[in-house]
Amino acid sequence: YDLRNEDLKELQELGQGNLGSVKKVEHTPSGKIMALKIVHTDAKPSVQKQILRELQVMHDCHSDYIISFYGAFLADSNICICMEFMDKGSLDRIYKKNGPIDIDIVGKVALAALEGITYLYDVHRIIHRDIKPSNILCNSAGQIKICDFGVSGQLLNSIAESFVGTTTYMSPERIQGAHYTVKSDVWSLGISLVELALGRFPFLDSSSDSDLSDNPEGHPQGKRKSKSKGGRLQDGGMSVLELFQQIVNEPAPRLKPEGRFPRVAQEFMDYCLFKDPQVRWAPNDLLKHKWIDHARTETIDLEAWTSTF
Ligand code: ATP
Ligand code: MG
Repeated sequence: YDLRNEDLKELQELGQGNLGSVKKVEHTPSGKIMALKIVHTDAKPSVQKQILRELQVMHDCHSDYIISFYGAFLADSNICICMEFMDKGSLDRIYKKNGPIDIDIVGKVALAALEGITYLYDVHRIIHRDIKPSNILCNSAGQIKICDFGVSGQLLNSIAESFVGTTTYMSPERIQGAHYTVKSDVWSLGISLVELALGRFPFLDSSSDSDLSDNPEGHPQGKRKSKSKGGRLQDGGMSVLELFQQIVNEPAPRLKPEGRFPRVAQEFMDYCLFKDPQVRWAPNDLLKHKWIDHARTETIDLEAWTSTF
């Protein structure tokens, strides 16, 4: 596609993130429906051009588990990225609307995300860097794909400066300043999968699940009053510092209550959530785990599942 801003007709706002917004658009010359991500940067024009060059790598990413890329361009001081539109949206919205996701479906999500992470790393040496439920999308054909991976070093640099918001899927070693490896993505995947299965972000107040009854979205808010130990407030609840302390010092989240979930699923989560990245499993090994074997052969109709919302 030869993409120009004036050829894109806005159909719907899909969401706002920390860095900008995403819209459903029609590319009028071709009739193709796309998702347009608009990222505002204050970067110099030379840096913006470099970001665009770096984004071109996405043209070479072809996997059933990765969002397709149609192209990117500059408009005003925005970087505009056109990608595949996924009509059922992101998994965070799906569980917030419909409640916890069935563990067999979470298995399919694990399989898709691991395939995507492994493809990016083995074929392109790209580490995703931002695995979380809002970056795992699905469509009514029953496909599950990951998006928003860190292909452009310059883009990562220029957004790092303006970065505000939750960094809650960050692994203990990242919080402690170690460099990023593909195993940091595995941690983020483990946290995301536990979140989908429980229907809430798993770091909240493990002592009293009853507190969650009036906080169905499970975000650090509501009853838990922040002690605000010097950090920014996280969703009006925990401070970022409290959350970081929990990630680094407390046992990793688990599927609860005990017995409600298959033991093999818990074992898989545990292997994703070893605090020590040396001990934590790599994506390739996790793809051979029994729970993933099961997910591969499981005949769940994801298309039928997506038709329920
Ligand atoms: P963050 O800014 O912290 O990464 P985010 O992932 O929610 O959070 P965006 O990447 O800007 O922020 O996306 C905003 C929302 O738009 C997402 O939550 C998702 O629901 C929706 N969205 C993003 N990409 C697509 C897409 N390709 N197809 C359909 N919906 C999408
Ligand atoms: Mg995103």
